[in-house]
Amino acid sequence: MTRAAQVAALSAGAVGAIGPTAPAGPIAEEDWTAALSAVRDLPADPDILLVCHVNPDGDALGSMLGCGLGLVRAGLPVRATFPAPFELTPPFDQLPGSELLVDPATAPAAPDLLVCFDAASAARLGELADRLDTAGTSIVVDHHASNTRFGTIHLVDPRAAATSVVVEELLRRLGVPLDQQIAECLYVALSTDTGSFKFDLTTPAVHELAARLLATGLRPAEISRRLFDSRPFGAMKLYGDVLARATFEADAAAGRGLVWSFATLADLERHGQPRHVLEGLIDAVRVAEEADVACVLKQAGAEEWTVSLRSKGGVDVAAVAVGLGGGGHRLAAGFTADGTLDEVMSVIRGALDQP
Ligand code: 5GP
Ligand code: MN
Repeated sequence: MTRAAQVAALSAGAVGAIGPTAPAGPIAEEDWTAALSAVRDLPADPDILLVCHVNPDGDALGSMLGCGLGLVRAGLPVRATFPAPFELTPPFDQLPGSELLVDPATAPAAPDLLVCFDAASAARLGELADRLDTAGTSIVVDHHASNTRFGTIHLVDPRAAATSVVVEELLRRLGVPLDQQIAECLYVALSTDTGSFKFDLTTPAVHELAARLLATGLRPAEISRRLFDSRPFGAMKLYGDVLARATFEADAAAGRGLVWSFATLADLERHGQPRHVLEGLIDAVRVAEEADVACVLKQAGAEEWTVSLRSKGGVDVAAVAVGLGGGGHRLAAGFTADGTLDEVMSVIRGALDQP
């Protein structure tokens, strides 16, 4: 969304007004039945395409590749992809199932079955969203409360801690047993979206699922280090710069407090780092206990920023992000903004001040 549109949305009061669209509650039995039939009734030698959201995170990739490997074990030919930029960056370049990935430019134009993972809306599928019109059937597998139900069959559970929770049930219902490779994908997804089993939706059922995954022989210490506790020395120094310039605004977010910082393209260049090292920055900034809301702006172009928002509970940052053209979860959301740093920050302050 352009800054002008973001300002317009703000003044029209749209930020707080946009709410969840998916029904709260578990996935209906008829949706499971429809999904199982869609998989079982495929023609001989079907075209099956799996897609996940742009700039995929651990849940998007892990859910997609875990499901893809499961379908392969069931004897189905599967291709998987995600919108450009089509790059698999660390720590996800070692995920099992990456051999299923094809460039989005060569993905089937009209698959018999399309399955979408961890995408709350069609826009999150970028240039691949057109497959929703050409596919025989499309199944949306997701856990965002803001999911717009853009497919033909919806396996969407906003109470699921990760999309991979839904994938595991789908594989179970299809009769596909978990093996270590599938489990690693689903474990990466689950530990990513629960922040290493720390966030609110980390229920007993989540730990039971983790136990089933670990029982296949996974090495959790190795996976966790790769996901959360490992980055290049230059990235560590870059994090130091970003933390040193962080700002705390006690009055922001209607008095709940805001801590924010930013990383520029020049920071990346100075430390010789690729962009993906910035993914964990928000976790370093959100620790400030004085602030309910944390925000990190990552420069994407001369006047373009990708913004991460987190709340400790007092603010629905998904509503804020949706109002500014993005999305996410109540306590973890994001969007892309055009403008200078000052301009984008004032739009964010304004949105956070709305009741
Ligand atoms: P992160 O801050 O880690 O990039 O994203 C946090 C959450 O917000 C994730 O659930 C992610 O999918 C969602 N999110 C981040 N950026 C966007 C965006 O531009 N659009 C939408 N719809 N969701 C986003
Ligand atoms: Mn997710």
